[in-house]
Amino acid sequence: MASIGFIGLGNMGGPMAVNLLKAGHTVTGFDLSQEALTHFAEQGGLLAKSACGAAAGADVVITMLPAGKHVLSLYLGDDTHKGLLDIVGPHCLLIDSSTIEADAARTVAAAANKLGLDFIDAPVSGGTAGAAAATLTFICGGSDNAFERAKPVLSNMGMNIFHAGGAGAGQVAKICNNMLLSVLMIATSESLALGIDNGLDPKVLSDIMKVSSGGNWTLDKYNPCPGVMPQVPSSKGYQGGFMVNLMVKDLGLAMATSLASGSSTPMGALARNIYVSHAREGNGMLDFSSIFEHFANQVK
Ligand code: NAD
Repeated sequence: MASIGFIGLGNMGGPMAVNLLKAGHTVTGFDLSQEALTHFAEQGGLLAKSACGAAAGADVVITMLPAGKHVLSLYLGDDTHKGLLDIVGPHCLLIDSSTIEADAARTVAAAANKLGLDFIDAPVSGGTAGAAAATLTFICGGSDNAFERAKPVLSNMGMNIFHAGGAGAGQVAKICNNMLLSVLMIATSESLALGIDNGLDPKVLSDIMKVSSGGNWTLDKYNPCPGVMPQVPSSKGYQGGFMVNLMVKDLGLAMATSLASGSSTPMGALARNIYVSHAREGNGMLDFSSIFEHFANQVK
């Protein structure tokens, strides 16, 4: 069993770290939020006073942070504070599961490799339910050796573990997936709202579309219409889950990547604009399935 430092115990990182505890690892966590720390301690986790405290002496360090700027600052440090790379031991395996710019992941990987350390980008898919149930999909970028070292640890938190390619490849694959997810969520929401506006029961319509040609993940696992599925964010006031602000971030990453590669991504561009408007209307902290309200609450 390994000694693991886990930094970022939020909606995703919290349950992921708990699954490592359940697998028998010693997990020392750190988060800027006192609430996240208390919750982790209540479930048997050890607490550190700082990110570097959580990483010192660890066999494996896992980070699950909001965005690239947090990851760069934490790993690389600056003039005022040490980075994780400055304090981890020579055999420590570094795994970042945040969704960030592929270039930021490549920057950290290069700095780690320069010190002889293995680093992989390992963003996830599967949402908070997948994080709690240890059924996440990990989409990894990095060397074969780093990937083979990471697999046993990741298998304590997920079911499908893919090696997409070299450093940053996990992040590219992840934002392709999230761009598709955003389009599916918006299209599912507008279809359900159209049905409701025309007298249909959203539960019946969902059951029909689920097994018809419009079937997709949002209908199967994450229905955006309140009351259709009991355990998803739409039935809990759109609390928890995957925040609109994070989807806006991911769609920004997808657009930047698309611009750089000269790709045509019209649906992703439209999805980004719809989600940015939704965030600017004050919904940034809600789950991303709250986009349903944008269509359901239209003035007639
Ligand atoms: P979150 O905001 O719930 O959690 C992030 C945590 O990081 C917070 O608790 C915050 O306090 C902490 N944090 C920020 N900076 C820190 C620092 N310097 N040191 C220590 N802790 C710090 O976000 P989340 O939903 O858990 O998402 C985390 C990452 O996973 C994001 O990149 C997101 O895009 C990605 N993701 C989320 C989901 C989802 O369904 N929520 C699904 C897949 C991927």
